Amino acid sequence: MSNLEDRPDEMTCAGTVTPGVEIMTPRDVPLGGPRAMRVRRTLPQRQRSLIGAWCFVDHYGPDRVADTGGMVVAPHPHTGLQTVSWLFTGEVEHRDSAGNHAMVRPGEVNLMTAGRGISHSEVSPADTTTLHGAQLWVALPSSDRFVDPGFAHHAPSPVTGSGWTARVFLGSLLGDTSPVPTYTPLLGAELLLDPGTTLAVDVDETFEHGVLVDAGVLSVEGVETKKDDLAYVPPGRTTLTLTAYDELVRLLLLGGPPFGERIVMWWNIVARTHEEVVAWRSDWQAQITRDGAVVADSQDVAPGRFGTVVGDHLPPIPAPPLPHVRLSPRT
Ligand code: MN
Repeated sequence: MSNLEDRPDEMTCAGTVTPGVEIMTPRDVPLGGPRAMRVRRTLPQRQRSLIGAWCFVDHYGPDRVADTGGMVVAPHPHTGLQTVSWLFTGEVEHRDSAGNHAMVRPGEVNLMTAGRGISHSEVSPADTTTLHGAQLWVALPSSDRFVDPGFAHHAPSPVTGSGWTARVFLGSLLGDTSPVPTYTPLLGAELLLDPGTTLAVDVDETFEHGVLVDAGVLSVEGVETKKDDLAYVPPGRTTLTLTAYDELVRLLLLGGPPFGERIVMWWNIVARTHEEVVAWRSDWQAQITRDGAVVADSQDVAPGRFGTVVGDHLPPIPAPPLPHVRLSPRT
């Protein structure tokens, strides 16, 4: 099934065809936890795995924690990627095997580099009654995919103009630049547009972009984009024109040059081959099991590629079974 809307290519004045904006609609996925908090996943999709190095876009809430049970994601591994956490409402407590312990708060980015391997947990604290945010992943390029695990935090100062506010958490936009280093050129920003506002934002023409709509309806380069949709804009534009309709719009603008490498993405792993996935899955399972059973306390996880999440006592999450078919690389 394709979620891609059929849209005719635009004709420019010169008569050359430029690829148009593609609207990607979310699918509803249970995240886990006692009452299975659900997320809206817009990337990857069958027809598109990456926007720049962005390889995963999960959007959730606003959810009443009393209804969903909140976020309770026990220790689990990652390899070959970075996780980017961005919240609109609530808080999430992050712990990882590199010893980082941090709160994820609205308007502040937390970026975790998995590199060759890390494990982490994400739990919303008891005083968080509403959760609303996005969990994004960045694929690491071949040159850097086995770097040491790491962690960065940044609280961007808002940049404002007539009818708009921007918070640039990765890369450069609207005169602001995030200090967080990245392994490929990347853009990540939150934009708020007052009703009726048109913002023509200068962008890097080598970048492709994704516009994830959190609230309201807007036009992205003339194409209507609704709440929870992700609009894909191909490279080749020096300006992106965003127009809010008659309500406040909040969106995340993601971008980067086309990644240019084929990746194999399975569970929490970004790899290049089926064999890598099999080996890293096996490494995690070996760390978390004793006599065939998953350990009850993450402090009992054995040493290995993914380490032990410092200070977490939840039972680690076992890897799901591998599919019966070989995982094949995708662009
Ligand atoms: Mn994770």
